[in-house]
Amino acid sequence: AKLNNHTRFQFYVASIDQEIRDRKQMEKDLTHAIENQEFHIVYQPQINLETKRIIGAEALLRWVHPEHGFVAPDKFIPIAETSGHIVSIGKWVLEQACKQVAQWAAAGSHLRIAVNLSAVQLRQNSIVEDILACIAKYQIPPGRLELEITETSFMTNITDAVAKLHQLHRAGISIAVDDFGTGYSSLTYLKKMPVQHLKIDKQFIQDLLVNEEDTRIANTIIDLGRSLNLTVIAEGVETEEQEHYLTQRGCKLAQGYFFSKPLLPDDFEKFVKTFHAN
Ligand code: C2E
Ligand code: CA
Ligand code: CA
Ligand code: CA
Repeated sequence: AKLNNHTRFQFYVASIDQEIRDRKQMEKDLTHAIENQEFHIVYQPQINLETKRIIGAEALLRWVHPEHGFVAPDKFIPIAETSGHIVSIGKWVLEQACKQVAQWAAAGSHLRIAVNLSAVQLRQNSIVEDILACIAKYQIPPGRLELEITETSFMTNITDAVAKLHQLHRAGISIAVDDFGTGYSSLTYLKKMPVQHLKIDKQFIQDLLVNEEDTRIANTIIDLGRSLNLTVIAEGVETEEQEHYLTQRGCKLAQGYFFSKPLLPDDFEKFVKTFHAN
């Protein structure tokens, strides 16, 4: 049936209204999520394509809502950012990651963990102190922690961001630019920022061997990494063909479903053992 304009308008309003209510409810639910232990972290292996060794993992946050079940990070992280909840959630993630690194170190493993740091977190005055305190608390070598930040983090207050990243870098923490090429990439930022890694976003890897533009973009990022002496990591590698291409093209690190999806700590440890046994 054909909807008249009036009905259509009502549908539209109804859905916007619902969206606002959902959002408000989610904000409210996020307030209690840490204390209710609704969060956990999964670890996705990162592989050195030259040596075929696992060098570490990216920590990815998971939220299992008591009524709605799994809520995707792409859905709740933006809301946690605008509401400010990301500050306490991010602290929790960082603490879990440091604790995990310490456990691995105690077991004789040198794996490192990459943690996603929101632009909102980077804007906090106490962020550098907080991160250094966490490292000190778990007595982990600072080089075992990597922070993944997006280009938008640099934008709001570049001087402030540069100063903080320099402090973290001087302390031995490594910095990766996440989702590289999707935001307002600027070579000026790369020059000013003490970054060591560039992450090629999975949107360019998905059709790497199908779409010529994606091939060129990936190639460009790999070459840029080489000339600026930055290690390039490809995210979202799903096929052997993609892995082969990236390896022969000189991309050093990779992560993606081809190797493993993000895993619970126990499964991650098992994965490391079997991967290195082969
Ligand atoms: P991201 O940092 O770009 O993380 C990569 C995303 O790609 C993850 O989604 C990961 O599970 C997914 N992925 C990994 N390998 C593959 C693959 O082979 N194919 C496909 N299609 N996807 C793959 P996830 O875990 O849903 O996280 C989504 C985003 O949420 C992350 O994107 C990140 O921006 C944010 N996020 C996740 N955890 C945290 C966190 O602790 N703090 C902050 N601030 N953001 C987080
Ligand atoms: Ca990331
Ligand atoms: Ca990405
Ligand atoms: Ca992202």
